[in-house]
Amino acid sequence: MTTTLSPYRADEAGFFGEFGGAALPPFLVEPIAEVAAAYEQASQDPEFQRQLQSLLAKYVGRPSLLYFAENLTNALGGARIYLKREDLNHTGAHKINHCLGEALLAKRMGKKTLIAETGAGQHGVALATAAALVGLKCEIHMGAIDIAKQHPNVVRMELLGAKVVPVEEGGKTLKEAVDSAFGVFASNPEDYFFAIGSVVGPHPYPSMVRDFQSVVGREARAQILEEEGRLPDVLVAAVGGGSNAMGLFDAFLEDESVRIIGVEPAGEGLDGDRHAATMTLGTPGVLHGMRTKVLQDADGEPSAVHSIASGIDYPGVGPQHAHLEQLGRVEYVSVTDEEAVAAFQLLTRQEGIIPALESSHALAEVVKLAPSLPSDAIIIANLSGRGDKDVDFVADRLRGI
Ligand SMILES: *Cc1c(COP(=O)(O)O)cnc(C)c1O
Repeated sequence: MTTTLSPYRADEAGFFGEFGGAALPPFLVEPIAEVAAAYEQASQDPEFQRQLQSLLAKYVGRPSLLYFAENLTNALGGARIYLKREDLNHTGAHKINHCLGEALLAKRMGKKTLIAETGAGQHGVALATAAALVGLKCEIHMGAIDIAKQHPNVVRMELLGAKVVPVEEGGKTLKEAVDSAFGVFASNPEDYFFAIGSVVGPHPYPSMVRDFQSVVGREARAQILEEEGRLPDVLVAAVGGGSNAMGLFDAFLEDESVRIIGVEPAGEGLDGDRHAATMTLGTPGVLHGMRTKVLQDADGEPSAVHSIASGIDYPGVGPQHAHLEQLGRVEYVSVTDEEAVAAFQLLTRQEGIIPALESSHALAEVVKLAPSLPSDAIIIANLSGRGDKDVDFVADRLRGI
């Protein structure tokens, strides 16, 4: 799909400036190169694009609404606030967009099983859904500790026909689950397709997952031009690995008048170690097959990270984000757990929309920014998912439990 030489895009080896690439052990080089070649071909095949568009329209329910949040706008007193309603997608978040793309690609490559790791289970559920739909098997590796914590998502995956593999090594969480899934994939790349859950990992995943998510920004651009007759002034999205953010940002990168802001979790504050503010405090390093910014200790081991929102507590970030920051095209800020919970409550009360805690990070930045902008300014925030999964947690926290 990379026909123009944009400074914001990857080169042929998957490098966004100094970030990205494919830093892999020898046994993974060939299987991942096969995915890159297959995606290159599929991305230029109108039939593949037609299949994907058809599922996005008829299964996911796209285009998602671009909703003018009038009550929130009035409550904050400043810029006009629009929400891109990815929470209204089937399965309740943006992840289904790229899971369907990956499932279709796997099918096209003749693979039998989608394999992935999952932390909180959101990626696992979206992938198991896509697998059920297109008729592939699905195997999800998950740390034993996460399995105990995320019972409802484990049940969902199993009901959808996925095999959930408990990982008992080391800390028994996401990091070990990644190694475990990669090991199985490498032992049988004939049958398995590794389906990464964000714009992270080795080339081609950061570009491929972005392309699958870019429908979000293409729709938002057309919708705001239709509604307001002009481009927005500011885009805001939460950044974990960075897929919902890249999905919204991609269609606006060349529009230099549009200010773009990514929001990461400051957790309990940037002065301690209970955060996951990779763009703000990370340093260049290698993680999960890519060169990117990483929160790491002196030995280059990824740090233990924290966020109230389990979908964004990741010690790395997609390499394109690191590049966009270096170019000065996108700004990265952070908001705390507390600010995110306050924004969660505000949107729920003002608009009757319960946002995911991940998405609440973007909203918390909107709460800070909107009052400082004139009343004819336009902000689009990505509402990446719905908050049903978070309601018990938030209610307990508000009661001080
Ligand atoms: C997983 C998730 C995220 C974080 O992932 P990105 O790749 O950074 O988008 C954000 N919001 C929701 C609702 C999620 O489920």
